[in-house]
Amino acid sequence: MTSRIISAMLWRAMTLRCPHCGSRRILADWFHMKERCPRCGLNFEREEDDYYLGAYMVALFIMEGFFALGFLVVLIVTWPNPPWDLIQWGGAVLLLLGVLLAYPFSKTLWLAIDLIFRPVSSKELGWYKGDAAVESDEARR
Ligand SMILES: [Zn+2]
Repeated sequence: MTSRIISAMLWRAMTLRCPHCGSRRILADWFHMKERCPRCGLNFEREEDDYYLGAYMVALFIMEGFFALGFLVVLIVTWPNPPWDLIQWGGAVLLLLGVLLAYPFSKTLWLAIDLIFRPVSSKELGWYKGDAAVESDEARR
């Protein structure tokens, strides 16, 4: 997989599109993805239970990165008298709001990362579409 394809998949994920084909309408609502991509048929959970546990880790990295960056900016701007109470309570509120905001991005980014390391095959897409030719091919083996 080339770096161009990898960056395209990550960009599609960051713009809430299907990392595989770029289709736009993949969210059922802000907190739920559709079961399958409306264009390519990719099953967004790739037939695995608890598939999105990795998305929680992506969300954690995103939010910790934003918190660390914000913390550093506030410290630099307000030094030598940082507003510790504001940092403590404001940081907690911003983290909670940020988790809600980052939630769908963490899912699409996790899907892109998974597709980079485990690319989708035409056989896998055939399973999702109920492709009889693929199933009969499997039965012959
Ligand atoms: Zn797709």
